[in-house]
Amino acid sequence: MIPPGETIGILGGGQLGRMIAVAAAQLGYRCHVYAPEADSIAADVCAQFTCAPWDDAEAMARFAADCAVVTYEFENVPVAPLAALGDTPLLAHARALETAQDRLNEKRFVSDLGGIPAPFAPVDSAADLAAAIAAIGMPGILKTRRDGYDGKGQWRIMSEADAEALKLPDVPLVYEGFVTFFAEFSVILCRGADGDIRFFDSAHNVHESGILALSTLPAPGALLAQVPAARELAAKVAKALDYVGVLTLEFFATEDGPVFNEMAPRVHNSGHWTIEGAVTSQFENHVRAICGLPLGGTGMAAKAVEMRNLIGDDAHDWPAILADPANHLHLYGKAAARPGRKMGHVTRLTLD
Ligand code: AMP
Repeated sequence: MIPPGETIGILGGGQLGRMIAVAAAQLGYRCHVYAPEADSIAADVCAQFTCAPWDDAEAMARFAADCAVVTYEFENVPVAPLAALGDTPLLAHARALETAQDRLNEKRFVSDLGGIPAPFAPVDSAADLAAAIAAIGMPGILKTRRDGYDGKGQWRIMSEADAEALKLPDVPLVYEGFVTFFAEFSVILCRGADGDIRFFDSAHNVHESGILALSTLPAPGALLAQVPAARELAAKVAKALDYVGVLTLEFFATEDGPVFNEMAPRVHNSGHWTIEGAVTSQFENHVRAICGLPLGGTGMAAKAVEMRNLIGDDAHDWPAILADPANHLHLYGKAAARPGRKMGHVTRLTLD
């Protein structure tokens, strides 16, 4: 067990790290952020900041020496340099990172555990793409295997003309069939060091332009009917990875049941509602898990909850948002409100 007062290392300097650090501070921990970018909104709320490239082994070792445990808020942290962490534990384990960093590996891994993803095929050339389209059909989505997020690194292919016009990027890709779904949801679980698994309620997630816009709870009944099967799969994934911490699996709810989309070995945007809307937030439970503390309750703390992301210029509406006393406003402290950038979120609870 890592008692309060110790230091938690966080790899990655964005809003998820910031919210982990705030929860850690509430439990009496110090946090130390490691990130390559100098303007870290996580470091703004932490005791210590190492700004260094991922492959700076000396900086990584010095960082590890200051930390009792290290976690990550960003799943694209390169795995090889993490050897420099030495004896300082990394939770969740590096294997979770390796699995989730590559969409192809992730789909194969989850399929082997009985999950059903959209039909998929690896694509490394124009010939592969033609073969994938012939096998899977159109419409479909071509995605980079690595480094994509919020709909970036994705190309929708509706027709032969789209496929022919596409200039294939020179990186490994995966083509997947377009899923006809009636809703999207995620399963967010927390697994303790002792193997105890708790699930948060699944929200109904609505995406706009590939970016999460809205999470609402309770989700409609047709969606909730798919949650038990999705949870069963998520628990299998957590056990197979000997996972410790918060783990997220995203699903499409279809007429044929839940279709696995992707996993994130970390706290997740679709769980931000838990800060005010659950007995214990995903961030606090992640800290509890990686420090070997008992997990907190994951039940809802309200009858209904709505979490809306503030994307780009939405963040400028903060005076109007604050004018409604029922709103819980979170701003991440990012300097520029670029289009498509997650600047904050606002949560509303319905208590009766
Ligand atoms: P991703 O980055 O893979 O989570 O994709 C972002 C969003 O694009 C998803 O939340 C869906 O709304 C949509 N999307 C991604 N893949 C598919 C698919 N195979 N079929 C239908 N919609 C998809």
